[in-house]
Amino acid sequence: MRTVGVDLGGTNISTIVLDGDDQVVGEAKLKTPTTGDRGGVVEVIAASVFDALDDAGLERDAVAAIGIGTPGVVVDGTVGGAANVPGFLERFSLAGLVKEKLELPVRVANDVTAAAVGEHQVGAGKGVSDLLCIFVGTGVGGGLILNGAPYEGGQGGAGEFGHLVVRQGGAVCPCGRRGCVEAYAGRRAMVLAAERARAAGTATVLFDVMEEKGKPRPTSGVFKEALARGDTLIADLVDDGIEALGAGIASAVNLLDVDAVVLGGGLADKLGERFRFRVDAAMRPHLFLHPPRVELVEAALGDHAGAIGAGIVAREVAEAST
Ligand SMILES: [Zn+2]
Repeated sequence: MRTVGVDLGGTNISTIVLDGDDQVVGEAKLKTPTTGDRGGVVEVIAASVFDALDDAGLERDAVAAIGIGTPGVVVDGTVGGAANVPGFLERFSLAGLVKEKLELPVRVANDVTAAAVGEHQVGAGKGVSDLLCIFVGTGVGGGLILNGAPYEGGQGGAGEFGHLVVRQGGAVCPCGRRGCVEAYAGRRAMVLAAERARAAGTATVLFDVMEEKGKPRPTSGVFKEALARGDTLIADLVDDGIEALGAGIASAVNLLDVDAVVLGGGLADKLGERFRFRVDAAMRPHLFLHPPRVELVEAALGDHAGAIGAGIVAREVAEAST
């Protein structure tokens, strides 16, 4: 079966045509609108679907369904609560709008859940029954697979790993609460902490590296370079992030006894194996079960996980409509 998988992000809309489980036969990437309304976003989603079909040399009727991974809380094809996509804060039927436009069955999932499905079906978590996927980038996202199926929770809010509290009354998180994992391990939170430290007179090369590389903000690559240059402020921030991830992952494992934890996302990918080993070491002392059986493994699909997972979940609606 051929499906289309759309990964809607705050910056890009990445779309693939998926043939079978893991053959990507076409792809397209367009910029996510930063202004306007949800109608404009749906227009760009539709354009990306046609671009990916063109790239694959296929017509629209050659695919069975479209899957979309979106930020926000997803319930029955509706999405709400996503502040980084125009018009996605208030709940509406994304599946309905895209279906109207493209006349194909549409399945919508949370973006991180879609990425977890991708890693579970064809990536680092293949063959595992219970899996937690964690993506460390601008924020810290989590996706859960329980008994081999994505677990989205009663109100679509499951898997919010980034907002597990690891320090009561701790640092302010981008979500507005205190002490979440993301308040320490998310890149956006680390950049804010670095800006505050710099304003208070602490030396850091982070912003110089950003300018040298011509980046509008400190990317994961900028963090990697600052660490390589021996920036002690950034090293301390990353250490705090590793401790928070370790405590958070152990807490999640103690609750769910998953078989494996996949660690991915822009920052984790850039900082590589050493980062993962250090998160693993930070996790171990907090694990309840002994000997611990859980494995912390590197994500395998990189940026493609979300779009591939969206293409896979699309099959549910394709099968339902045939
Ligand atoms: Zn939070």
